Amino acid sequence: TKPVYAFEEADSKKRMLLGGKGAGLSEMTRLKLPVPPGFTITTEVCNKYYDNNRKLPKDVMPAVMKNIAKMEKKTGKKWNSTKNPLLVSVRSGAAISMPGMMDTILNLGLNEKTVEGFAEQTKNPRFSWDSYRRFIQLFGKVVFGVNDEKFDHVLDSAKAKQGVTDDSKLSVESLKNIVSEYKKICEDHTKRKFPDTPDEQLILSIEAVFKSWMGERAIVYREKNNITKDIANGTAVNVVAMVFGNMGDDSATGVVFTRNGNNGKKELEGEYLINAQGEDVVAGVRTGKNIEFLKKDMPKSYKELSNACAKLEKHFREPQDIEFTIEQGKFYLLQTRTAKMSASALVKTSVDMVKERLIDKNKALVRIPAQQLEALLHRTMDESKIKNYKQLAKGIPASPGAASGIVVFDVKKAIELGDSGNKVILVRKETKPEDVPAFFSSEGILTSLGGKSSHAAIVSRGMGKPCIVGCPELKINYDNNTCTANGITIKEKDTITIDGSAGTVFIGEVPTVEPQMTKDFEQILDWAQKTKTLGIRANADTPEGAKLARKFGGQGIGLCRTERMFNGSDRINLFVEMIMAENIEERSKILTKLGQLQKSDFIEILQAMEGYEVTIRLLDPPLHEFLPNPEELTERIQKLKASGDTDGVNKTEIILKRARELAEINPMMGHRGVRVGITYPEIYEMQIRAVFDALVELTKKKVKAHPQIMIPQISSIAELNHIKRIYDRIKKETETKHKMKLKINFGTMIEVVRAALTANELATTAEFFSFGTNDLTQGTFSFSREDVEGKFLPEYMEKELLERNPFQSIDVNGVGSLIKIGVSAGRQLRPNMEIGICGEHGGDPNSIKFCHSIGLSYVSASPHRIPIAIVAAAQAAI
Ligand code: ADP
Ligand code: MG
Ligand code: MG
Repeated sequence: TKPVYAFEEADSKKRMLLGGKGAGLSEMTRLKLPVPPGFTITTEVCNKYYDNNRKLPKDVMPAVMKNIAKMEKKTGKKWNSTKNPLLVSVRSGAAISMPGMMDTILNLGLNEKTVEGFAEQTKNPRFSWDSYRRFIQLFGKVVFGVNDEKFDHVLDSAKAKQGVTDDSKLSVESLKNIVSEYKKICEDHTKRKFPDTPDEQLILSIEAVFKSWMGERAIVYREKNNITKDIANGTAVNVVAMVFGNMGDDSATGVVFTRNGNNGKKELEGEYLINAQGEDVVAGVRTGKNIEFLKKDMPKSYKELSNACAKLEKHFREPQDIEFTIEQGKFYLLQTRTAKMSASALVKTSVDMVKERLIDKNKALVRIPAQQLEALLHRTMDESKIKNYKQLAKGIPASPGAASGIVVFDVKKAIELGDSGNKVILVRKETKPEDVPAFFSSEGILTSLGGKSSHAAIVSRGMGKPCIVGCPELKINYDNNTCTANGITIKEKDTITIDGSAGTVFIGEVPTVEPQMTKDFEQILDWAQKTKTLGIRANADTPEGAKLARKFGGQGIGLCRTERMFNGSDRINLFVEMIMAENIEERSKILTKLGQLQKSDFIEILQAMEGYEVTIRLLDPPLHEFLPNPEELTERIQKLKASGDTDGVNKTEIILKRARELAEINPMMGHRGVRVGITYPEIYEMQIRAVFDALVELTKKKVKAHPQIMIPQISSIAELNHIKRIYDRIKKETETKHKMKLKINFGTMIEVVRAALTANELATTAEFFSFGTNDLTQGTFSFSREDVEGKFLPEYMEKELLERNPFQSIDVNGVGSLIKIGVSAGRQLRPNMEIGICGEHGGDPNSIKFCHSIGLSYVSASPHRIPIAIVAAAQAAI
C-alpha cells in the first residue's frame, strides 16, 4: 500500500490503516461535506518507523510533498510562501480514538518570513503573530517536550508589561517579542536552532506524532482500556489545511454530539466558542456556550451543522461526535467519530435507532460495549435522605452515577490514596491527559472548569465513573488544598458525595440506593435474553442477592458459597466455637445449631430462585480463616493483661493456640475444600443434611426448589466418591424419614488441574461440573491470585508478556484447554451434562464469548454483572 493517501482517494473502510480520524475525514470528503483538504500518512508507516529504528521510510516525505502540492491547488495557497502561505495542522489518529492521548500541532508553516505573508493574506498582523506564537508553543511542547509553564510565564509577563489581562489585547510588538523569547526557550532546551523551514517543521512534527504512540500516556491508556494490537496498531498522521475559528466575531469553533451523550435524547448536544480555536473547547480552559445559542448567533452555520449531523448519522448509523470550525462565516468539519456515550445513552439510542429503522436489533445489541452497562447498575443517591445533607455546589452533570469519597486535589496523592484502598473523589480545576491514571484510582471526578466535552467529562464517561464539570462557584485553592463554595470550605480528606446524573455535590456521605431499570434497558435485556443461548446464573449467598439476581434476569444460582453464611454476625461466634470444640460430641452439638441456621438460609434462597437450579457449594476456605490472626490475638492478650482480665487472657490464649495449630504457610493450597470435608466429615454432613431438610420443607410447601450440592477442591474421583457415600447415606435417611423421593444433583467443581485432566473419571459420579476458573487459573499459571496485582503482573502487561490479566479474562490457550478437556470428557459419558463456570470470569464479556463458543450450559456471575453477562452472551450468539 501507499504510505500517504489524500482524503479524497483513501478507502475509508480501512480504519486499521488510516486510523479513525483519517477514515472519518476521508468519508466526510467522499460525502461532499465541507472538509479542508488534507491527507493521511498510514499506520503502516508508523510501524515501519519503529521497525526502522525510529526513522521515516524514504518514500514518505516525497509522497507527503506531492500531497502538499495537491493541497496548494485546492486552497490556492502556497507552501512556504511569503505572500499567501498554506498552513496545516498535524494530527494523530489511531484506529481506536484515544481522546487527548496523543498530540496535535496547529498553524504549521509559519516562520519569520511566512508570518508576514500570512499577515498580508489575513490583513491582520496581530492575529498572524498570535498564530505564530501559538505554533511555537505547541511545536516546542510536542516536538521538543518543553514544559508549557515556561511559555505561560513569558506570556504572563508580556501581558503585565503591556498592562493588559486579555491575550487578544497584546500588541504586534509584544507578540513579536514573545515569539523570539519562545524560540529562545526552545533553543535553550534543545541546544539547536529553532527549525525555520516548513519542510523541516513538518518532518519533525510527523515524527513527533509517531513517537507519541509509544509515549507513556498513550501506553497507559491502551493498557487500561485493553486496546491491543489487533484493535489498533500504531497511529496515523493527518495533515489538514488550517481553518481559523479565531478570525473575529464571524468565526467560531465547537464540538457537538448528534445525540445527547449523557441521556441519549435525539438532540444536538455540545458547545462552541466565538472567535476561538478548537483546542480551547476541547481542553476545557474556557466553558463554551450551549450549541442551542448558535441558532441565533449564526443561523446559516447552524443549519449547515445540523444538516451535516443528520447526514453523518444516517451514513454511519451511529451517533457522531463532531468537531467543526466556522471561518468568517464559512462552515468546516474537522472530525467525526462514533460518539462515546454513557451507558444509558447507549441503551436509549439503541432502542431509538431500531424504532427509527436506522439499525436492526442485532446491531442494537452489538453496539453496546457490555462492560459499560455496569454504570447503569450503579447506585444513585437516596432521594429520601438527601434533605439531611447540605449541598455544596451544583455543576454540569457529565457522567452518571453517585459516588462518595474523600476530597483529594493532588493527582499523585489521589493515585496513592486510591490505590491503598481509600475512596477518593478527585477535585481539580480541569484535568489533562497525564492525569488519567488518577481517574482509575478515584471513585469520581469533579472539576470546576470545562463543559460536557472537556477532557474530564469524556474520559470519565468512557470509564463509567461519575463526573461533574463546570462548577464555577467552586473555588479551588491548590496552595492550601481547600475548595470553597457557598461560603463553605472543604479541606483535603473531607468526605463529599457527587451525583454525576444531577450534577450535585453534597457534603458528607449521602446514602445511595440500588439502580432503577429503565424501560429502554428492559427492552435491550429482553432482546438479549431472546438472542442468547448461554444460561446466566448468579453467584449469590443471600436471599437479597438471589432476589436481585432474579430481578436482573439471572436464571438460577451457579455458586452459593456456604462459608459466607458463617461470616454473619449472628453465627461467626458459633462457628468459632465449633472450631474450638475439643471433641466430636461438643462439635456435633454446635453443628446442629449451625445446621438449623443454614437450613433456614437455604430455604430463603431456594424460594427466591423457585423454578431454577441453585448450586450450593460446601465449605471451601481453611478453618483458620474464621479465627482472628495470631498477631491480632497476641495484641489482644497484651491489652487484656494490662487491664487485669485473667479470665479473658486465658480464653484468648486458647484461641491463639488453636489459631497457631491451624495456621498454614500456603493456605490456598492447604487444608481447605474437600480436604476439610474429609478430615472433619461432621461439617459436610451438617451441610448436606441442611440442604436435604430445606428441600423437604419446601417440597411440603409445594415450592419448586432445585438445590444441587457441589464439592470444592476435588482432585480425584476417590475424594468425590468418599463424600458421595456421605451424601447417599443422608439422602436415604431423609427419604425414609419423610417418605418422599428427593432429587438433589451431586456434582463437583473443577478448579484443580488434576480434576480437569481426570474429568472422565469424575463424570462417573458427578452429575454436573462447574469450573472454578479463579483457582484453576491460579493452578495453571502457578500465580497467586492474592499477590500478582501488586507485584509482577503490571510489568508483565507493560512488557506485553501477557495480553490480559488472566484473573479477569480467561486465558483461552491454557486454562481454556483444560476447560475443553473437562467438557469433552464430561459430555462423552453424560451427553447432556450441565457444565458451567463460576468465578470472576463469569461476568467478563471476553470470557463469556469463549464459554459460549465451547458450548457451556451457563456462566455464573455476581448479581450486579448479570445484565452485562446477558448482553455479552447475546453478542456472542450474534
Ligand atoms: P484530538 O484528537 O485531541 O481531538 P485533534 O487532532 O482533533 O486532536 O485536534 C485538536 C484540536 O485542533 C481540535 O479542536 C481540532 O478541531 C483543532 N484542529 C485540528 N486541525 C485543525 C485545522 N486544520 N484547522 C483548525 N483547527 C484544527
Ligand atoms: Mg479531535
Ligand atoms: Mg475455588
